[in-house]
Amino acid sequence: MDQNGFQPPHAGPVEPLEYSDALAKELSAHSDELESASPREILSWAIERFAPHFAMATAFGPEGMTLIHMLAEIAPRTPIFNLETGYQFPETLELRERVKERYGIEVQFVRPLLDVAQYEKKHGGPLYSRDPNQCCFDRKIKLLEQVAAGLHAWSSAIRRDQSPDRAKTPIVGWDRKFQLVKVSPLANVTRETIWEMIVNEKIPYNPLHDQGYQSIGCQPCTRAVMFGEDERAGRWSGQEKTECGLHSIEDED
Ligand code: SF4
Repeated sequence: MDQNGFQPPHAGPVEPLEYSDALAKELSAHSDELESASPREILSWAIERFAPHFAMATAFGPEGMTLIHMLAEIAPRTPIFNLETGYQFPETLELRERVKERYGIEVQFVRPLLDVAQYEKKHGGPLYSRDPNQCCFDRKIKLLEQVAAGLHAWSSAIRRDQSPDRAKTPIVGWDRKFQLVKVSPLANVTRETIWEMIVNEKIPYNPLHDQGYQSIGCQPCTRAVMFGEDERAGRWSGQEKTECGLHSIEDED
């Protein structure tokens, strides 16, 4: 277990995956092949290729919940972690308990070293309004960097139709920022399909979605969206920021 409480699925240190031309070619070929594969098939491929050095990150969004549902069937021992910034909604944290009840899967919280009170004391108040990039860096990016040291690949739940930036997401690619292979099984899936899956398969979801929240991050940086607004319009509303930095496409090859 590392200092944040993340329990890697293997014993002992992991040799990092070296990025090379050969790996780039392999990833690109698989990404092309998997373009027409289902999310379950993509996840199965990733597990076969990278387990036990493969994990999934989730913020318990609707997309992540469908992936958890699939992993519960395909490979329930896959480690799943949540970057617990200390600023998440109680409803989001409660979803972790519902996942445990429904699937017997314990999503691991990965927390910053300083809790919210210590962090705000250090900075003379909350940073999310003054310097959200620094806040996201300290309370999300740094945590993923630490988790990444024990992995070769991770799965995100991003969809290409979420934003112009995300439209370029490969199914499989090299994540330069975290020096990991990044697998996006839902890249080709639409929001409508995600919700059909949730309804048809009775997958648990965050009750805030029923109150107009479409994309849910930390409480101070998320608002409900109004009719006709983009699904991510409620994230860092009124600021130029649109991503926390975990999925910046310029950081991928
Ligand atoms: Fe801080 Fe907001 Fe980023 Fe959460 S989303 S880490 S509160 S700036």
